[in-house]
Amino acid sequence: MALIELIGIRKSFRMGDGELEVLHGIDMSVNRGEFVAMMGPSGSGKSTTMNILGCLDAPTSGSYLLDREDVASLDGDELAAIRNSMIGFVFQGFNLLQRTSALANVEMPMLYSGTKAKDRRARAKEALERMGLGDRMHHDPSQLSGGQQQRVAIARGIVNRAPILMADEPTGNLDSKTSDEIMKLFQELNKKEGMTIVLVTHEADVASYADRIMHFKDGIIISDEANEARRGSAA
Ligand code: ADP
Ligand code: MG
Repeated sequence: MALIELIGIRKSFRMGDGELEVLHGIDMSVNRGEFVAMMGPSGSGKSTTMNILGCLDAPTSGSYLLDREDVASLDGDELAAIRNSMIGFVFQGFNLLQRTSALANVEMPMLYSGTKAKDRRARAKEALERMGLGDRMHHDPSQLSGGQQQRVAIARGIVNRAPILMADEPTGNLDSKTSDEIMKLFQELNKKEGMTIVLVTHEADVASYADRIMHFKDGIIISDEANEARRGSAA
């Protein structure tokens, strides 16, 4: 049984008097330990799909099974709980709290998961060290480069030890050298720690680090194939 299973997902948005359907039946299955990239031009439905995968938005129809749980049957609290325990997020714009240290930013997701203060601190430190930021823990975002800020955000995304990491255009604000560094970190989390990674990008270079690439076009998936030309050196 797949960790993530989308079946016939459709999504419409209300537009004035009418409805605009932007996803026209998405089927997707991701197994534990996979590293998949969702590619496609702007407006093809990648982020809309990602928001559904992240339980941040609900489909208009179709079903979503996350770790065998039918997401549509969960109430708000249950949804927040499954999201917290199953999924970490990384965004294009880093979404860090300003005037707040890297350490405090990384501790943030644990405030909702009932971790003790001492353990929160220890785990946040460990995640930042894991991202090579052991000497930047007390800096706030304005004192960090874009790549460093994204590494803080990745630390925040993994600190709850959720099995899935979802990232929507995580390199969209970074230069290509820094993008490569960030993609290598994702690859390492996948290969060395077995994290399941779902990445959205419109750039082939970025997608090339994944093991499997799906192409979206106009709200459907037009191809879904193993990436034979995978980049990166993680075993
Ligand atoms: P991508 O991430 O591939 O660039 P999106 O999933 O963001 O594409 O958008 C897919 C389509 O859905 C686009 O045509 C976009 O304008 C439309 N769309 C996305 N969100 C909304 C919304 N909240 N209301 C109306 N239309 C939306
Ligand atoms: Mg998008």
